[in-house]
Amino acid sequence: MKDFIIFIQDFNSFVIRTNTCGELRSAHVGQEVTLYGWIQYQRQGLFLVLRDFQGLTQIILPQDEAHSHVKKLLSNAPVESVVRVTGIVSSRPPGQENPKMPTGDIEVKAETAEILNSCKKLPFEIKDFIKKSEALRMQYRYLDLRSFQLQYNLRLRSHIVMRMREYLCNLHGFVDVETPTLFKRTPGGAKEFLVPSREAGKFYSLPQSPQQFKQLLMVGGLDRYFQVARCYRDEGSRPDRQPEFTQIDIEMSFVDQAGIQRLIEGLLQYSWPEERGPIMTPFPSMTYKEALADYGTDKPDTRFGMKIVDISDFLRRLDIQFVQNALSYPHGTVKAICIPQGARYLKNKDLESLKESAKSQFNQEIMEIICRPDGSLKSLLTKFLGEKQQLELIQVLNMQVDDVVLLAAGEHKQVCSALGSLRLESADLLEAAGLVLRDPTAFHFLWVVDFPLFLPKEENPTELESAHHPFTAPHPSDTSLLYSDPTKARSQHYDLVLNGNEVGGGSIRIHSAEQQRFVLEKVLKEDSEVLSHLLEALEFGAPPHGGIALGLDRLISLIVDAPSIRDVIAFPKSFRGRDLMGNAPDYVTPEELEPYHIQVSWPLAERGKEKL
Ligand code: ASP
Repeated sequence: MKDFIIFIQDFNSFVIRTNTCGELRSAHVGQEVTLYGWIQYQRQGLFLVLRDFQGLTQIILPQDEAHSHVKKLLSNAPVESVVRVTGIVSSRPPGQENPKMPTGDIEVKAETAEILNSCKKLPFEIKDFIKKSEALRMQYRYLDLRSFQLQYNLRLRSHIVMRMREYLCNLHGFVDVETPTLFKRTPGGAKEFLVPSREAGKFYSLPQSPQQFKQLLMVGGLDRYFQVARCYRDEGSRPDRQPEFTQIDIEMSFVDQAGIQRLIEGLLQYSWPEERGPIMTPFPSMTYKEALADYGTDKPDTRFGMKIVDISDFLRRLDIQFVQNALSYPHGTVKAICIPQGARYLKNKDLESLKESAKSQFNQEIMEIICRPDGSLKSLLTKFLGEKQQLELIQVLNMQVDDVVLLAAGEHKQVCSALGSLRLESADLLEAAGLVLRDPTAFHFLWVVDFPLFLPKEENPTELESAHHPFTAPHPSDTSLLYSDPTKARSQHYDLVLNGNEVGGGSIRIHSAEQQRFVLEKVLKEDSEVLSHLLEALEFGAPPHGGIALGLDRLISLIVDAPSIRDVIAFPKSFRGRDLMGNAPDYVTPEELEPYHIQVSWPLAERGKEKL
């Protein structure tokens, strides 16, 4: 298999094979070997290809009378049967070598063989190039796991985690501590899964992260904690989310933001797979405000340009009604993105769908400006502009022939979010039409810092919620704002972004009980009683501390360029949070529910009608 496996000393210890199916080379010619594996292909009673986790070996079936039983046995065995083959390694006849196969210089001439388990008709072929539905792949996950891609993904994941442990524990003295998965509900944040208990009306909750425990470990003097932690959020699955997921969870005492950032850069550099090329540190950093203004999101994809340009000042001087209207509001702005070569690569229907998407997702109108081959502009806007002003606009927007500009006027956050989303959508469209904007092998890490401490709640903007979580400390220069005008306070929260995806987030924590109580009670209006254990702990000499969590599934899926995090999880859940192989969640009988004092009101007749 791939490079990272070649460091393994011995794949053949403790087992009854002599070699794996991926390791025989010309140097082994003449040796008698015993291989175990699955039959990948059969060819006309002449040869077969045997597969295991490490590779493929061609087996030549004996054609002489004395070995006719071996030939019969092997040529009658169905594909994916498990067999043992013992034989002699030989060079392939000249001209028949296969340079694409690591074992392509040799073949094994079978002398004896045994069918250890015959395979019945498969629901799908175990070949990476055969397309199959995700539901079928999940139903027969153990078969899907036989594919090279999944084998590769899971082995690379294991290797990276091993390197992370090495870096954290051996090089930097972190302690791997397991924290409980049966806990209780905590305020704010994601929805938690409840677990019934035998005490009537009382429930455990599965933690959305070990946040409280890792802080309590700092109070306990552990100093440096880490865990490959399973986290649970009852939010259904998306391509980059599922109800249970894994974090590399980290907490340190006596650390500041820069300390955590350098630790994570070192950790990623140390565990980064060599075959993906080196990563440069320190990672660049951008404030939340810049990210929103230039990219319309707090997780900018910095692999390509097309940044959002503010043209408010240019247009302010002109007498254009919709522009003046937008600019008259507080936070009013006019901004634009320039799609390079948009007129050549995008069809009219693409432009229409971009505008439609801004309307439906953000309630934002978009005006387009096209730079014609003769350098003149085509737009509803041009009738308001003299020739000189058109040239100025071309300059402000840095437009070239065939570029298309999408312009939006309105409230700052809405305009930025709409243009940020159009920036990504048009990049996808340009790439689908053949223009390469993002290098598929590039990894652009970015720190986003100086987040606001609180944001207005989506469902009720007059109330505040934590931008990260309620334990996040205010920015050192904004501590007094926390008490006077919390909406203006920035935090010591940092996110790590990779190619436009959030792969980590953390913060320096509040370690004063008084400040933590103020945030919970006065700003967030939460009942602080549920967190009395944490508040009390902060009163017993809690050290200053901070930490971070990396989303391991997402990080690995980006490293292996998988379309979904489910491709790097051995047994993932479906979009609706179901295990399609074992069929979980499943019904339990009323008798089984009795000890929990729970009754189900769902009619029996509805059973089995759930969607996948
Ligand atoms: N517990 C946080 C999270 O899961 C990470 C952190 O603040 O360390 O996002």
